[in-house]
Amino acid sequence: MAVWNLGSVNIDHVYQVPHLPAPGETLAALSYSTGLGGKGANQSVAAARAGAVVHHIGAVGPDADRVLARLRAFGVGTDAIRITDTPTGHAIITVDAQAENAIILFPGANLLPDRDQVEGALADARVGDFLLLQNETSAQAEAARIGRERGLRVVYSAAPFDVDAVREVLPFTNLLVMNEGEAAQLQAALGQVPPVERIVTRGAKGAEWHSPSGEVLSVPAFRVRPVDTTGAGDCFIGNLVAALDAGLSRPEAMRRASAAAAIQVTRAGAGEAMPDAADVTAFLQ
Ligand code: ADP
Repeated sequence: MAVWNLGSVNIDHVYQVPHLPAPGETLAALSYSTGLGGKGANQSVAAARAGAVVHHIGAVGPDADRVLARLRAFGVGTDAIRITDTPTGHAIITVDAQAENAIILFPGANLLPDRDQVEGALADARVGDFLLLQNETSAQAEAARIGRERGLRVVYSAAPFDVDAVREVLPFTNLLVMNEGEAAQLQAALGQVPPVERIVTRGAKGAEWHSPSGEVLSVPAFRVRPVDTTGAGDCFIGNLVAALDAGLSRPEAMRRASAAAAIQVTRAGAGEAMPDAADVTAFLQ
C-alpha cells in the first residue's frame, strides 16, 4: 500500500545567536545552517525512512531544488509536489545559548495546494492507502473529503492547532493525532472530546490510543536522554502510519512509533534526524 501526505515543505534557516534579538537590534549570528523542515515534510521523511512508499503532495517555489533533492534522498516521492512562482515556505529560526528559540515562519507556496491538485494526485491512490494531513497547507478539508470518498484511511495531525480546520476535517477523519496541548485546546474549543478514533501523545509520558467506545491503549515512552525534541510528534506519526500500512497491529505500531520518536529526540534536528526501520528494530532488541 502507500501513504499520501498533503503537507508543508519548508527550508529551515537556523542561526545560533548569543541572545534572541531585541527590537531595533542588529545581531551577528555565531553559526548558520539550513535543513529540510515543515511538519508535512518531516512526517513524509519519517514514514519513508520507516519503510513506507510515500507520495508527498504539496507546493514549493523555484528555489526548492535542494529541498526536493533532500526529500528524494530520504526516499519520499516528489512527483505530486507542484513547483510554483511563490517562494518555498521557510522558517527563520534563532536559537540562543539556553536553547530558547524565536521563529519567523513564512508559509509561502504551502498555501497554494487546491482541490484540483489533490484530486489529480490522488487519482493514483488505491482503496486502503493512507492519506496524511496537517494544518500547515491549504486544501486539507477538500483532501480529507476526497480521501474518504476514495476509501483512503485519513490520518489527521491537527497541528498547529486551528479550530476551524479541525471542524472541517474531523468529519472525514479516521484517526486524529494530537499532542496533549492540542488535545486540551480541542476539548476546550469543541466543549467535548471528539467522537473519533484518536491518539494523544504526551512527550516523555508516552502516548494513548483512544477508541470512540472508550477503550484506551497506553504506551509508555522509552527512557532516553533527549537532545532536541523538535519533530518528535512528526516522527511518531510517520512511523505509526508506516507500521499500520505494513499491516502491524495497533499495539505494535504504537510501540514502533514510540521507539522511533525516542531515537529521534536523542539526535539534533527534525526532518534530518528521523531514524530508519533498522535503527528502530535494533533499538527494540
Ligand atoms: P509533539 O512533538 O507533537 O509535541 P510529543 O512531545 O507528545 O509530540 O512527542 C511525541 C512522542 O514522542 C511521545 O508520545 C513519545 O513517544 C516520544 N517522545 C517525546 N519526547 C520524548 C522524550 N523526552 N523521551 C522519550 N520519548 C519522547
